[in-house]
Amino acid sequence: MNLTTYKNLLLEKLKKQFSLWFEKGEQEPIANSEVYRFLHSIKGTSGTVELMDIYMISNNLMEEINRAKKEIWEREELKLLLNKLIILTENYETFESGEIHGRNLSQTDHTPLIQVIGNDISNLIFLKEFLEKKGWIVVTNSSEEKVISQYLDLNPDCVIINENSPSLLGLETIQALRPYSRKQFVSIIMISKMCDKETRLHALKIGADDFLEKPLDLEELTVRIEHHLERKKLFEQSALIDELTKLYNRRYLHVTYNRSLNDLKRNGQPFCLAMLDIDFFKKVNDNFGHPTGDMVLSAFATFLEEGMRNTDIAFRYGGEEFIILFPNTSDHQTYEIITRLLDDFSKIRFESNGQEFSVSFSAGIHMINRPETTIKDALNFADQALYRAKESGRARVEYMKSPGEDYENRRLFISIIDDIAIIRTMLMQELRTLKIDHYDIDLQEFKDGPTFLSSQRLKQRGDHFLILDGVMPEMDGFEVLEKVKQAKVSNHVLVMMLTGRNSKEDIKRALKLGADDYMTKPFNIENLHSRMKKLIQRIKNQDFESESPLVENKA
Ligand code: GH3
Ligand code: MG
Ligand code: MG
Repeated sequence: MNLTTYKNLLLEKLKKQFSLWFEKGEQEPIANSEVYRFLHSIKGTSGTVELMDIYMISNNLMEEINRAKKEIWEREELKLLLNKLIILTENYETFESGEIHGRNLSQTDHTPLIQVIGNDISNLIFLKEFLEKKGWIVVTNSSEEKVISQYLDLNPDCVIINENSPSLLGLETIQALRPYSRKQFVSIIMISKMCDKETRLHALKIGADDFLEKPLDLEELTVRIEHHLERKKLFEQSALIDELTKLYNRRYLHVTYNRSLNDLKRNGQPFCLAMLDIDFFKKVNDNFGHPTGDMVLSAFATFLEEGMRNTDIAFRYGGEEFIILFPNTSDHQTYEIITRLLDDFSKIRFESNGQEFSVSFSAGIHMINRPETTIKDALNFADQALYRAKESGRARVEYMKSPGEDYENRRLFISIIDDIAIIRTMLMQELRTLKIDHYDIDLQEFKDGPTFLSSQRLKQRGDHFLILDGVMPEMDGFEVLEKVKQAKVSNHVLVMMLTGRNSKEDIKRALKLGADDYMTKPFNIENLHSRMKKLIQRIKNQDFESESPLVENKA
């Protein structure tokens, strides 16, 4: 599994907390309990997302504050204590942002992301901090080779090249980025010490969209960035064709989807949405260069256009992801069409620098046969199917029905109750692909106990599985557990306690209150999967007894 997104989220969280404590100019001391909660959550999360150095440091820090037995911390004192963690976070952010994985492309209305490139690190850090205060997300890059792949991975909305000494680096970077940025209406802003007419003109000629000289006027920079972002948004909204592949882009997908939905309403004709994603495309770029990657993308588009029926429509959804809409077609028919496309495409031999290679793709299909299915739902189901295809080895086609469509199946409601957003997101992501025979799974997250309890979810007919965090600020997990067990719902409700508390007392208490299992953070996803399956298997076999908890490894 790819943990980079979660790592990124954790780093953001750390940074935010440090800024809150130390950069806002506030003076009053901080309660030890607040520091404890913070470190506790960092420790649990970092272990789970495998940031082991952060895990170890926070673990040591927790021991240290336990020893210190303080009620409160002066800010300066706390800053000294957390120094290692602060420095580590800063380094991760500044130098590894190139490795952090891209935002989900399906987000249409996102916080603008700005890529800042330059060879002077302290300058980069300064700009990053300044721009982040404006509410933008900022990634930095000081390594020339990584600029393009970071750009393609993260899809920034604006690029800033911050040149310190007059060198060719900035100009070369503009030249390399331009073919991509132009197609996506992404502006490149050049900041340079050299501002003679010749340099300015040259930069603009080879593709910079804007030029600012040093010393930098930050107010002016802000206004200009805002203009460029605005312009990008407008262009995006008016364009329907993707430049590289000449396919329709995702905007037009929405129009077409609604048209098919109208057909369904009028004539009851079901249709299918398929999501295709090229396998190991990163390797194509890495082995043969980005221009070859581009060539494969446009060849793939042409191949689809030629291989599909006239009525089917293909879209470039983003990067190396494509969508095809199949009007008036069942999922079985779609499966056959795409499988044939996959076979044919995999046989194509590409060539680059005298080396031959071939490329495959994976696909996920969802059939829309109910008029209330929104495009978001359909994309979501297709994406889940695609994920399954990737998981089971790639170069495959899978499909996914809407829950409840298959009436032979029982329904299983999995609820994740955890106050830490990163853990919730990660669990949602990982459990999305969980498959249990004879069950349709409905997955939902809750930010705390009261929200869950007031949601009426337990009244849903079917079996329930709760993943419940032990330590939560609003209402502690044990209290939630107690309330759930008192609720006396007729369905089966299984509870897995997730806790950073490692003490025997807490575990005993959880089990006594009726938890069916527990896991201590940091936990391992595969382990969670297999334990869940075992527990659920038990209710399915109808020999479920809440008095005999299944506990495998005592901490
Ligand atoms: P998987 O089989 O799991 O899909 O692996 P993958 O390598 O295909 O998937 P991943 O999503 O990790 O990488 C996709 C890469 O596609 C990342 C990005 O650098 C590259 N990419 C995105 N857009 C473009 C583009 O327009 N041109 C080129 N050449 N590469 C692109
Ligand atoms: Mg992809
Ligand atoms: Mg891919």
